[in-house]
Formats: sequence, C-alpha cells, structure tokens
Amino acid sequence: MSKSAPRILVARIWHESNGFNPQPTSKADFQICEGDELLAAAVTSGSTLAGIIQQLSKEQVDILPSISAVAPPGGLVDHAFFIEVKERLISDAAALEPDAIALELHGAMATTLLDDAEGDLLAGVRAAVGETVPIGIGLDLHAHVTVAMLAAVDLCIACKENPHSDVVECGEKVAAYLLAMLNGSLRPVTAMAKIPMILPGAAETAAGPLREIHDQARLATKDCPAIWDVSLFNVFRYADDEDIGQAAVVLTNDAGQKGELVAHSLAQAFWEKRVRFADELLSIGEALNTVAEAGSRRPFVLADMGDRVLAGAPGDSTAILEAALDRQDGLRGAIPITDPQAVDIAFKVGLGNIVSCAVGGRVTPGFRPLSIAGKVIHLSSGDFTLAGPFQGGEPSSMGRTAVVEIDDRLLIVLTAKAAFSHDPAVFTSQGIELASRDFFVVKSGYHFKLNFGAAATPLLVRTPGVGYYTKGSLSYRRARFWPEHDNGDPAVHVRIFDRASAYSAAFG
Ligand SMILES: [Zn+2]
Repeated sequence: MSKSAPRILVARIWHESNGFNPQPTSKADFQICEGDELLAAAVTSGSTLAGIIQQLSKEQVDILPSISAVAPPGGLVDHAFFIEVKERLISDAAALEPDAIALELHGAMATTLLDDAEGDLLAGVRAAVGETVPIGIGLDLHAHVTVAMLAAVDLCIACKENPHSDVVECGEKVAAYLLAMLNGSLRPVTAMAKIPMILPGAAETAAGPLREIHDQARLATKDCPAIWDVSLFNVFRYADDEDIGQAAVVLTNDAGQKGELVAHSLAQAFWEKRVRFADELLSIGEALNTVAEAGSRRPFVLADMGDRVLAGAPGDSTAILEAALDRQDGLRGAIPITDPQAVDIAFKVGLGNIVSCAVGGRVTPGFRPLSIAGKVIHLSSGDFTLAGPFQGGEPSSMGRTAVVEIDDRLLIVLTAKAAFSHDPAVFTSQGIELASRDFFVVKSGYHFKLNFGAAATPLLVRTPGVGYYTKGSLSYRRARFWPEHDNGDPAVHVRIFDRASAYSAAFG
C-alpha cells in the first residue's frame, strides 16, 4: 500500500423487493443523491452508509462519493433503472480507481428481470476494478445472501439487531475492516452456511430463539480471535429465488476451517429451533378492543402486518379502516393508505371540502377499493424527513398526500406513493400530533417500535396481504423452503470464499 491516504469509494443502492407485490418499483420511487450531497447527508443520518462515512472520516482517507439510491421496499425494481444505477457505480469505480470500495446494500433486491440483483451488481463492480481492490458491503440482516454476492466481495457484514438499532455500527465495521485489509492486518476468508428455511415469526433479536442464536454467535467470536464477524441473515421472506434460507456468514482472518465449523453450527441451530419461530398476533377486532379498553396506554400503534410497506407490500390495504369505520365507540385513529387516484380526487376537491371516493385496494391481490366520504383537511407534497433513530435524518417522500377526516374521528392519510411509514414523521409532517389520536396504523412490523419509542404502545395485527407470511398464502415459483415445502431434514450447505489468496500478491 502506498503511503498516501487511501482513496475509498462509497455508495448505496438500497431496495428490498417483494416478488408478490404486482407493482414494480420505478425510478420515481427512489431518493437519489450523489457527490458532496451524499457526504453531507451522512453526518446526521441513521444508516449503514453514514456509519461507513463517519468511520472513514476519522482516518486519513480520501472519500470518493458515488451514488445513493434508496426507495421504500416494494415490488420488483424496474430493470432499466437498475442498469442505469449499476452502470453509474461501475463507471465511477473504473474511472476513480479507488483503493477500496464500501457499499451499503439492502441485499434483497430483485428486478423485473433478475432474481439476484446484488449478485449481478457486485460481479460487475468486481470485474471493473480487478481482484485486488477490497470491496466491503454492509447489509440489512434480512438480506438474501447469494454465492454470486460473496464471490465478488471481501467483507459482507450485517447489522445484528431487529429492529435495526445498529445499522450505523454495521457501517463503521465495514469501513474499519476495509482499512485493516489495506494495512495488511486482515486477510479475509469467509464461510457461509445456509439452511433452506425462513422464520415464519419471532423475528426480533431481543428475546426468544433468535436471541439464543445471536448469543451463540457472540460466544464463538469471543472464543476465537481469528473470527472478526458473524452475521446472521434472516432471509427476506418474499424473495422468490432459488437457494433462499437462513444464512450464517462468518468472516475470519485467514481461518476458513474455523469459520466453516462456526457457520455450520449456527445454521443448524436455526433448524433445531424452527418450531419456536412463531408470532402471536392480534386480530383486527382484538387490537381495536385493546385500544378502546386500555385508555391509559394510548396512543397505540397498530402494525398492519399483511400490508407492511417495510416488507414490500403496496400499502393500500383497507382492512383496518373498514373495521374501524364499523365501530360505534368513536376511537380516533390515523390510517395511511396508498392510492394515487384517490389523492388526485382529494386535490381536485380541495382543502376544506367534502370528498366522496373509493380508496385503496387497487394493487394488493384480493382487495377492492372502499368507498368513503370525509373532509379534506390537509394537502401537501408528502416530502418529509424521517425522525429515526432507524434512518433518522433521511429525506423521504410519500408523493402527494391528502389527509381526509371522517366523522371527526378517523384520519385517512392518502399517499400517492407507498412510504416508510414506520416513522412518526409520516403523521406529524401532515399536521397530526401523536397525542391527538387513540391509535395510528403503520405498515411496519418491527422498526416502528424503534422510531415511535415510548410515545406509543405497539400492537402487532394479523391482517391479509403480501407482507406477512403464512403457509400456503403466497405462490412461490422458485423458492423451496421450510415450512412452505416438505424438504425432510435438509442438509446445511457450507461454502468458503477465500479472498486472502487474491491479496497475497498485492499485500504480502
Ligand atoms: Zn431488515
């Protein structure tokens, strides 16, 4: 390595693509920034990219910003847009000739033509820069990690907590380990073990079987200095790709055999604990009864599990709205529903006037629009900044947004685009104070707990849609896994990715 400051290219391409949402995710759904704007945003944002940049800023490093493209989870990414972003990243990597590359990716992106978009992207970046430029990726722990991805990179590190309270730390680790590679103290050999199963439930890391497996991983790291990181990937359940499964990815300093043993035992632990991965959800009626009866715990936040935009669902479910409209107890709620047609009508009717129209139910299979009438009380561009901590400081957009009030009790937040609705700013940016409502509906199952914090009581609600897995409810074409398919007692598959040998010549 030369004595001059290393030059490290940074970028982010972030999307979690739900193969069962019929509406593709287009360029217009992405927030895109580049250059100095990308660096400035990283100062305050709660993201893996921010962690990468903050860590690199502590060292003598020239940071080379490329591009950041982030959209809320949704349907498959428009392939032409994916190619546009991929070519941008590859041309930057080729032209700038960085000493290393640090990327934030979600790790479960698919396009209208590609099941493993990140595998394709990373293979392209590797081909552009050659074998001896270290590439590190920081991923969401719900990534679908593939052989193609790991074959192209040196470091593959996930956040460890769900809800994702530690994404900044994940980025810091990616950056620190890339620098360790450049100074010759890390020769990465990675082992990945996979077992073909998903987690049907109990997907939070603070307690239960996942906590136990993370404890096992922490113990393995503590016992063996050659293990630098253990990342446990709880595969995105709505990725319809071959080879999906729970994955343990163990990064070692030139100790592949040890990594293989640890990865294997962690993947096996998922299988042994499989029947305990189950959720206890409330029906819609039970959830609204709880809101009605437990006044001192208001406001509540009801997670619309079937329509989780945070899992790529369309955000247009009317299930909770319909149930709330039927009640006579006057509960005051706020419910986001994505429907650009209804938004257009509300804007035409105008502020302060009564709108009668059908809302939601146009995209999610099995739903129909629901007729409502109410007063338009707020109109906006729908641009807002996430409060965080998860993704705090990130600019986001719901598209044009109209708030419609029904019977002086229910507020429908009609958005033109599906939004990151795990954050209270979705509501406060539209003039809806948290204290003014008995309940809020969010299209998130985990992260809303982090971002609403103590301001509201969470309830997980069993609702229909493409954002919550139940056996037999979704038609998988390629993926084969427990519990959807009977695959007997499947073997753990382990692969070693030995990048150390690629660097021997370069770094000695
Ligand atoms: Zn996640």
